[in-house]
Amino acid sequence: MALIVQKFGGSSVANAERVMNVANRIVDTYKQGNSVVVVVSAQGDTTDDLIEKAKEINPNASKREMDMLLSTGEQISISLLAMAIQKLGYPVVSLTGWQIGMKTDSHYGNSRIHKIDGERIKKELDSNHIVIVAGFQGINKYDDITTLGRGGSDTSAVAIAAALHADMCEIYTDVDGVYTADPRIVPNAKKLDSISYDEMLELASLGANVLHNRSVEMAKKYNVNLSVRSSLNRNEGTVVKEVNKVEKMIVRGVARDNDVARISICNIEDKPGMAFKVFSLLAKNKINVDIILQSIGRDGMKDISFTVNEGNLEKTVEILNENKDSLNFEEIKSSTDYSKVSIVGSGMVNNPGVACTMFEALYDADINIHMISTSEIKVSVLINKKNADRAVNVIHDKFNFA
Ligand code: ADP
Ligand code: ASP
Ligand code: MG
Repeated sequence: MALIVQKFGGSSVANAERVMNVANRIVDTYKQGNSVVVVVSAQGDTTDDLIEKAKEINPNASKREMDMLLSTGEQISISLLAMAIQKLGYPVVSLTGWQIGMKTDSHYGNSRIHKIDGERIKKELDSNHIVIVAGFQGINKYDDITTLGRGGSDTSAVAIAAALHADMCEIYTDVDGVYTADPRIVPNAKKLDSISYDEMLELASLGANVLHNRSVEMAKKYNVNLSVRSSLNRNEGTVVKEVNKVEKMIVRGVARDNDVARISICNIEDKPGMAFKVFSLLAKNKINVDIILQSIGRDGMKDISFTVNEGNLEKTVEILNENKDSLNFEEIKSSTDYSKVSIVGSGMVNNPGVACTMFEALYDADINIHMISTSEIKVSVLINKKNADRAVNVIHDKFNFA
């Protein structure tokens, strides 16, 4: 008998038929003698619909109230799924984030999990209940409801698996596993049998939203047996694990992120300390900066360009303009017309020329590169948004995954 955590995403529980399908799968696992904890997301587009509802009333609502609203989506799913399992005649209980003691920090809208007081879940498992838990939500030290950021139910599931020392954590979604690229963008993308935590973390952070990046970070930290598979068929999924067997594939995947804004500070003085001044100001305001590019100085002046999430664009420009006098720049230019396309693979480190192959694919397709950033296991380029999907395809073709 094993302790299994299963997570079902929004599309897997989008309607009554899908909820019954998921209920049947859960019961199958339970009938085999396993203890089962299930984490579930809001149905279909519920979270997006709730955000729209809020905007109709107050587009500047506080993040606390947004979390109060958004957490309701998951509460609907857990109760419906529990009802479906009751209908099949099995013992079940649904629980919200606060009921399972999912303690988070107070960063509303993007909270981090501090700890899980697993007593309630254990008690229910001891009574042979199937336990259904609301994903994406927790509670902070003020007893307020918090949410973990979009896609955060994956992280709820991994955190619960880690806290309970579960034998495995299965993420069920609408694709068969982790592919070499988003199969919706690249029809001939190939499913990976396994991928290392590091590669998966990089892919997820670079836009492959099949897993929430923090879920991978946590799985690595607590050594959780993690797999991704489809809720709609019984195909083998992808295992995410510590060290991958030595692979022929140097590049494991291509990812795309459309949530990118580029900001340029034009004509700022070319002297020591300017980059420090700019980026410490942004850090103080909790703005995450991604790719940074500084131009060569001319006539004692230079430009500094960098990217942030689209959601941070307005605030970043505002902060820079408020400090225009002390930073002493000429103007700020910004645009959201960009996407970031990346290749990931831990084999890159020992294989020169990988970045060059990526650039060649873009050259052949006449796609201009605006910024480049590299690390040991990834290369990212900033290109025009309108070219993004084509870029993912030509890069994917070039690396011969299929
Ligand atoms: P869920 O609602 O189950 O959490 P998500 O929409 O968050 O599902 O994640 C699944 C989606 O992730 C897929 O439908 C697919 O379009 C997308 N995706 C992006 N990159 C990849 C990848 N490399 N492999 C598989 N799916 C990917
Ligand atoms: N319902 C949340 C979202 O849509 C969390 C999740 O699906 O994981 O982002
Ligand atoms: Mg998801």
